[in-house]
Amino acid sequence: MIVAKKKLIKEIMAGLEGRQRVLIVACGSCVTVCLSGGEKQAQELASQLRLAARAVGKELTVDVDCMERQCDREFTSQLTHDPKDYDAVLSIACGVGVGFMSELFPASRVLPGLNTTFYGASTADGVWGEYCHGCGDCVLALTGGVCPIARCSKNLVNGPCGGTTKDGKCEVTAEMDCGWHLIYERMKAAGRLEELRALPVQEPRDWAKDRSSGARRLVHKELTSPEDR
Ligand code: SF4
Ligand code: SF4
Repeated sequence: MIVAKKKLIKEIMAGLEGRQRVLIVACGSCVTVCLSGGEKQAQELASQLRLAARAVGKELTVDVDCMERQCDREFTSQLTHDPKDYDAVLSIACGVGVGFMSELFPASRVLPGLNTTFYGASTADGVWGEYCHGCGDCVLALTGGVCPIARCSKNLVNGPCGGTTKDGKCEVTAEMDCGWHLIYERMKAAGRLEELRALPVQEPRDWAKDRSSGARRLVHKELTSPEDR
């Protein structure tokens, strides 16, 4: 899932300077699960913004709406408010939702209420950790399912940097487990250490599959008309 964190109220208020009517749009998917951008968080944010405005002698009208997924046009019909009736739309989806909303409603000023952070998993109650960086060329088959891009501070694919601490932590980020220590332990637990030792040196990565060649697309031709490809 995509994990996102709430922006500070003062940052959101700065973006709303001079606006009087605001529509907060929540998203019912990833950001609801990570407790940042669901309907409940939208109602809380609405109260916080009204109070913040009142504290500086202003009145802010804040309404709340929610779509099951802000990254899918088929759910726009779920909106019960018209974005055109507001001075600003504050999306508390991930950046994909914010970008897609601003495309669907070009006449509206769509602002982000969250900072989109990583692709992660729920590792304990109230905790989400990063597991994938979306590199476009997955090597998890070689590394026991531990990602050397997302879980190593230096994105090293050919083994550790040599700075791993004695207790298996990263030399860059002391509180983080070294990704290559995790790979070693995972492969050991699976009885695959010989396989790990025999791994061929990885060729330089094709970063065009990551972000260096621009925005990426997934097209299923059998489902798509030629003009949409
Ligand atoms: S290797 Fe790439 S695709 Fe696979 S988990 Fe890591 S970042 Fe994600
Ligand atoms: S200590 Fe481990 S996680 Fe940290 S940069 Fe080096 S190899 Fe990567």
